[in-house]
This record gives sequence, C-alpha cells and structure tokens, in this order.
Amino acid sequence: MKITELFKNTPRTYSFEFFPPKDEISAVDFGINVGTLLKLAPSFVTVTYGAGGSTQERTFALVDYLKNKIGLNTMAHYTCIAASREKTLHDLQALQQMGMENLMLLRGDPPAGTTAFAPPADGFKYASELVAFVKAQGFDFCIGGGAYPEKHPDAVSTGDDIRRLKEKVTAGADFLITQLFFINEIYFNFVAQCQQAGITCRIIPGIMPVTSYSQLIRSTKMSRAAVPPELEDSIKTYENNPKKIYQTGMDYAIQQCRDLLLMGAPGLHFYTLNKSRATVEIFETLMQK
Ligand SMILES: Cc1cc2nc3c(=O)[nH]c(=O)nc-3n(C[C@H](O)[C@H](O)[C@H](O)COP(=O)(O)OP(=O)(O)OC[C@H]3O[C@@H](n4cnc5c(N)ncnc54)[C@H](O)[C@@H]3O)c2cc1C
Repeated sequence: MKITELFKNTPRTYSFEFFPPKDEISAVDFGINVGTLLKLAPSFVTVTYGAGGSTQERTFALVDYLKNKIGLNTMAHYTCIAASREKTLHDLQALQQMGMENLMLLRGDPPAGTTAFAPPADGFKYASELVAFVKAQGFDFCIGGGAYPEKHPDAVSTGDDIRRLKEKVTAGADFLITQLFFINEIYFNFVAQCQQAGITCRIIPGIMPVTSYSQLIRSTKMSRAAVPPELEDSIKTYENNPKKIYQTGMDYAIQQCRDLLLMGAPGLHFYTLNKSRATVEIFETLMQK
C-alpha cells in the first residue's frame, strides 16, 4: 500500500528503518531482530541504500523479500549519487516490476573515503531532480524525501535549505522523514518554518535511541545533531558502564518520543540499526496507558 494511503486512515505512523545485512551472521541476527520488531505491527518499514549506491543488490533483494514474502508495507531507499539517467530508469523499472509502491528518493552520501559530492555524468545533482525525473517518466510511486531540522551540512543557510526542500516537495515528494535529532524544540521550530514556506506534507521525526557511547559519537558525527548537555553529561559520566548508558539513552528516548506525540508529531520513524531491543522497549512503554 502507498504510504499516502495509510495517511488517509491514521494521523500517525510508526515506521522502522533497516539496512541490508552485510554477511550471513548479520543476516541471522537481522532475522531475529526483525521478527521481534514485526510484533509491533509497524505502519511501514524502509531499507537503506548504501553510500554511493554500494548495497543496491542487497537493498533490492531485501525490499523484495520484506514486501513480497513477509507482506510488509515497504519503502526502498534509492539515491542518485552514482547513477546515470539510464541506470536510474532501469532501476526504477526493476523496483516497479517487483511491485514496490514507495520510494525514499535521496541524493545520497559519498562513498566511504571520499568527502565531497561529485554528481555523475548524465545524472542528478539534487534529490529534487531525481524526484522530478521519476514523475516525468510517468512512474506512480509514493515518494518520501529527507529533511534536516538542523540544516543539511552542505546548505548555505537554514532558509536556503528549506527553500530547496520546498522544491523537492513541489517536484513530487509526498512526505518527508527527518534526520535524527535529540531536541524536540528544534524539530517543531523546523516544522513551523517549513509550513511558513508552504510545505504542508507530513514531516515525520526520525529517532535514534542512544544505546552506547560509541554509537552516540558515530551518529552525531554523521548527523551533526545537537546533543542536550544533560544527555551528554550522563553518557560521559557512565562512559565505562554500558548498562547505565543504555538505560540513560532509553529514558531519554522514551521521554523524547512521548513529548513528540503529545505535541502533535505525525508519528515516529526509528533508525533501528537492525537491532530490536531499544525500539521494542520504547514502543511498549509508549503504548502503555
Ligand atoms: C530519512 C533519511 C534517509 C536516508 N537514507 C539514506 C540512504 O539510504 N542512503 C544514503 O546514501 N543516504 C541516506 N540518507 C542521507 C542523505 O543521502 C544525505 O543526507 C545526503 O547528503 C543528502 O540527501 P538529500 O536527498 O537530503 O539531498 P538534497 O535534497 O539533494 O539536498 C542536499 C543538499 O543540496 C542542497 N540543495 C538542494 N537542491 C539544491 C539546488 N537546486 N541548488 C543548490 N542547493 C541545493 C540542499 O539544501 C542540501 O544542502 C538519508 C537521509 C535521511 C534524512
């Protein structure tokens, strides 16, 4: 089902992001974790596309499996970073043939080892160009796009980033999912600025529960999300106590999610990192009366 169809029936969606497992052991681990997460009956699940398009085969195989074998509402991520128009057209046809109805269309991050983004010859420079191409080719996918409450790192200013985001929505993005963030006020200010700019589609908050010190460092380096001092201080205090860090991260994420929902966020999108424990704990706590 198209995610936009789900929106017609529910004010909130709960979704999980996975990445394709890299080897057999990870695949077994993934199967166990996904099995646990599916008991939560997510509105939809999404599967990432590796930096520089590096996981294409595994992404396509996994979305095919999740949609057609497990029967989940699935969204495939697809990036234009390393693709010509011809290749993109071919890939879109393959996704259409497997019955995929939802695509998360992104510019993509450069492959590991490179920092600057160089658009491919005869390809696209921005996600909005990819979205426009998908529409111009007559495909009927429901399209998601990325949004950055703390500004995309390449953007010249917040105002310009939001203007570019509006272009992406005008080109055909049906809804947006945000980069992870820890401070709800930043998200709600961003949503208000987007609305002022004429972006009226759903902007679903992306949540990554902190479960370890190294994960906090990695995720904030990548996202540049601001970490509230009280969270950072507690995590640093417990640097050598993984259990305490986990509990601190959980308490923070539960409160963050609870406040987001109370203040009217249109759902929650969890960056699960292919693990189930944290997301299940948060979910079960939120759903308790
Ligand atoms: C929910 C979510 C899921 C993601 N999943 C993946 C994934 O599976 N695989 C992956 O590799 N990466 C993924 N990413 C990361 C994403 O690819 C990177 O953040 C990438 O750097 C930007 O992608 P985008 O689609 O948001 O880019 P764009 O929307 O193209 O924006 C990129 C930058 O260009 C600017 N810009 C846009 N249009 C113009 C214009 N016309 N002129 C000048 N500047 C412009 C924007 O302001 C921004 O700074 C994800 C991000 C999010 C938020």
